[in-house]
Amino acid sequence: MGGQTKTVIKDISTKQPYFYRYSSEFVEPDWHRLPGYRQVTEAEWNSAIWQKRNLVKSVRQLKEVLGSHLSDEIVEDIRKDQTDRSTMAMLVPPQMINTMNEHDLKNDPVRRYMIPLFSERNIQWPSHPKAQRDSLHEHEMWVVEGLTHRYPTKVLAEIVSTCPQYCGHCTRMDLVGQSVPQVSKRKFALGQKERLGQILDYLRRTPSVRDIVVSGGDIANLPSEILEHFVTGLLEIENIRDIRLASKALMGLPQHFLQDEVRSMLERLAKKAFERGVALAMHTHINHANSVTPLVAKASENLLAMGFRDVRNQGVLLRGVNNSQRALLDLCFRLVDHGRITPYYFYMCDMIPNAEHWRLSVAEAQTLQHQIMGYLPGFATPRLVCDVPCVGKRWVSQTHSYNRELGISYWTKNYLTRIDDDVPDALNKLYEYYDPVDTLPEQGQQYWAKYNA
Ligand code: SF4
Repeated sequence: MGGQTKTVIKDISTKQPYFYRYSSEFVEPDWHRLPGYRQVTEAEWNSAIWQKRNLVKSVRQLKEVLGSHLSDEIVEDIRKDQTDRSTMAMLVPPQMINTMNEHDLKNDPVRRYMIPLFSERNIQWPSHPKAQRDSLHEHEMWVVEGLTHRYPTKVLAEIVSTCPQYCGHCTRMDLVGQSVPQVSKRKFALGQKERLGQILDYLRRTPSVRDIVVSGGDIANLPSEILEHFVTGLLEIENIRDIRLASKALMGLPQHFLQDEVRSMLERLAKKAFERGVALAMHTHINHANSVTPLVAKASENLLAMGFRDVRNQGVLLRGVNNSQRALLDLCFRLVDHGRITPYYFYMCDMIPNAEHWRLSVAEAQTLQHQIMGYLPGFATPRLVCDVPCVGKRWVSQTHSYNRELGISYWTKNYLTRIDDDVPDALNKLYEYYDPVDTLPEQGQQYWAKYNA
């Protein structure tokens, strides 16, 4: 056809800042490669009881599992961290150990946040001068023991104070886990039955609350009958329309959710929730693509098949773990392509003690949010959020103003929290969040050095 020009459509996918191609390869890493797991059978590996019996709780046990892959230098580094810096005890399920690269443990992203090294912490600024052990003031917002009422229509129930895995950056380091040399933990004063009863009573008499996060700790550490009794109680409260169960163990110990007894209990709850028009969802906490394995996907699929409305991921942005466009998008694609898990939030790491080496500045988080836009479906594009003390979650782009030199971002809020009763003009105040000092220009660093002096 003379005179007509032919349009050549070029494939520019390889030129994109992030290159995506679907890969059907999705296999459980072979645990037999690790010295301590050579003799472990498939039946044992898939058993929640075996996983729980073999939780790694000490450097000695870690050495037994990893053998010569764990050098003496790293052993000493972990030991020093445990005495001088760590805010959480060591507790790592075999399932999580098996997702680490034994040939490069120093740089492994999962090791970096689950088993921190002393040498990784920030030497000059291990903690921000404004860091606090309950940095989100959750305890101050307890309306009854363990129930944080911060937002107008939503509450957070901390119904158990332990987990089957302890993360180095845990925001609830004030309450969660056993005491460690650096932190003596807060203890619940009430017995479990009375505490859960008081939470249900509060919700019955507070019709303005419609949405509850049932968390801890990790709900996987609650006996099934207690969790079922509590959630059934919630389902009987007319005003409760959304229930989100929170468990990192869906990733850390998916075997727990594949046990017959746990599955039957969750299935009964999903059925009841559906009949009552209540949205029951599971929220998990996955920080790296390597953690999403076929067993995790199976546990998630099961929940959806039972009638759970969704399985969503709330990760935490951590330097050296996932602070790049590639790491975040790899994780999100693994979640949606293989895990049937919706990427929902990435939180900025909270201002708890000894967390500076993990934390990012607000500016870095804003850049990452920009970098991940447009690749995933809109409904699965996670929001990067800053949990601003005394305010709550804000999208990282929602700063009112931002002093980059001092690393202080200012935020506003549009509702009153439980601790605002005596705060004049709480709705017009500016609330502060602080960037890690070592990310600041020289003058900013000098400001905080003087502040600390
Ligand atoms: S699972 Fe959640 S509550 Fe438990 S230690 Fe990790 S971050 Fe904290």
